[in-house]
Amino acid sequence: MAKLNRILVVGGGIGGMSAAITLQGLGAQVDLVELDPGWRVYGAGITITGATLRAFKALGILGDVQAQAYTGGGIQVCDRSGRRLGIVPTPPAEAGLPGCGGIMRPLLHGLLSRRTTEAGVNVRLGLTVDRLACDAEGVDVVFADGSRARYELVVGADGVFSRVRQLLFPAAPRPQYTGQCVWRIAAHRPPEIERRHFFLGGEVKVGLTPVSADQMYLFLLETTPRRPVLEEPALSSELARLLEGYGGPLPGILDRRVPGTTVVLRPLEGFLLPRPWHLGRVLLIGDAAHPTTPQLASGAGMAAEDALVLAEVLQAAPSVEAALDAFMARRYERCRLVVENSLEIGRREQRRAPIEEQTQLVEQSLRVLAEPI
Ligand SMILES: Cc1cc2nc3c(=O)[nH]c(=O)nc-3n(C[C@H](O)[C@H](O)[C@H](O)COP(=O)(O)OP(=O)(O)OC[C@H]3O[C@@H](n4cnc5c(N)ncnc54)[C@H](O)[C@@H]3O)c2cc1C
Repeated sequence: MAKLNRILVVGGGIGGMSAAITLQGLGAQVDLVELDPGWRVYGAGITITGATLRAFKALGILGDVQAQAYTGGGIQVCDRSGRRLGIVPTPPAEAGLPGCGGIMRPLLHGLLSRRTTEAGVNVRLGLTVDRLACDAEGVDVVFADGSRARYELVVGADGVFSRVRQLLFPAAPRPQYTGQCVWRIAAHRPPEIERRHFFLGGEVKVGLTPVSADQMYLFLLETTPRRPVLEEPALSSELARLLEGYGGPLPGILDRRVPGTTVVLRPLEGFLLPRPWHLGRVLLIGDAAHPTTPQLASGAGMAAEDALVLAEVLQAAPSVEAALDAFMARRYERCRLVVENSLEIGRREQRRAPIEEQTQLVEQSLRVLAEPI
């Protein structure tokens, strides 16, 4: 085992918190620095796969997710009018686990941040790294407030616009806008929405994911050359316009919004950092290395799996260097599949490929992702 005493995690999102929990569990003292002084997360829903639920089990939050969010199986595929066409299976990643789920980001953040502080991680908010200097034994870090510390491993989990990636690989490719934006709202869940739904074959792709017994979120993927900059009330009226002509449970859904929640509009970006994702003793995980578009609902799961695999390889390998090589061997192809297949599904959506062409690649990818990691 590569014994480590002090580890720094940069970024307190899903990947960073997961890494802090698993690495503190190895007996190291973990410092986690998070740029946002309020450690906030925006209030949108996310969909989770069977593989993500397996990772949540390993992180010790599955019971809470099952009790407070939604878990189930299958994606109901409908046409634009709401007519049911079939179900895409969502295979469980482990016997006894559900095949998929949905959760509001603030709830997931709350569960993971509680686990992080309970594990004894030293969380420092409103802080980032300014400089990193690697040598054979560790990394000297200068923080933005001028303080300094030395670590035996630094994990960059600071998201799609990662500063750690910029410090490590200044010439790395930058996230590219894919040509799609995603609109999301949280709404009351009617009893007929028993599982995830896709509404395909129209101008836009629409989906519903339950996030609790009585709530769900709607997502709508719009193909547009640039991200629209809109504020309320234009945001709501534009979303209502995009939903015109859609049937089933969709008409009037804006009126069934969860009070106090807003329309969230985000551009989609994705890319895969060429391997290796480490230099010296600094490693990039999650969106810092492989930000993905949400077509396979796997970004959160890949970030959490990175953290679990990192702890496993550090335990098994004779040195940190060997562990980081083993990490790349286990993670690269799996994350590549998620990023590339998600981008490909997005391209099929943009050219309005036949419905089966869109769902086939989802089904095939979910089957692979449910395999052991
Ligand atoms: C519109 C959209 C919808 C998505 N839907 C889904 C979905 O349905 N299912 C799914 O699984 N995934 C989804 N994803 C992907 C998922 O959100 C990400 O893959 C996941 O959040 C990655 O976690 P992360 O910890 O790597 O990065 P992040 O969640 O981005 O966390 C990074 C953290 O680092 C902090 N930070 C940033 N810069 C610094 C710095 N310089 N120093 C210190 N801290 C810093 C940030 O404040 C943040 O807390 C979606 C993504 C988008 C954009």
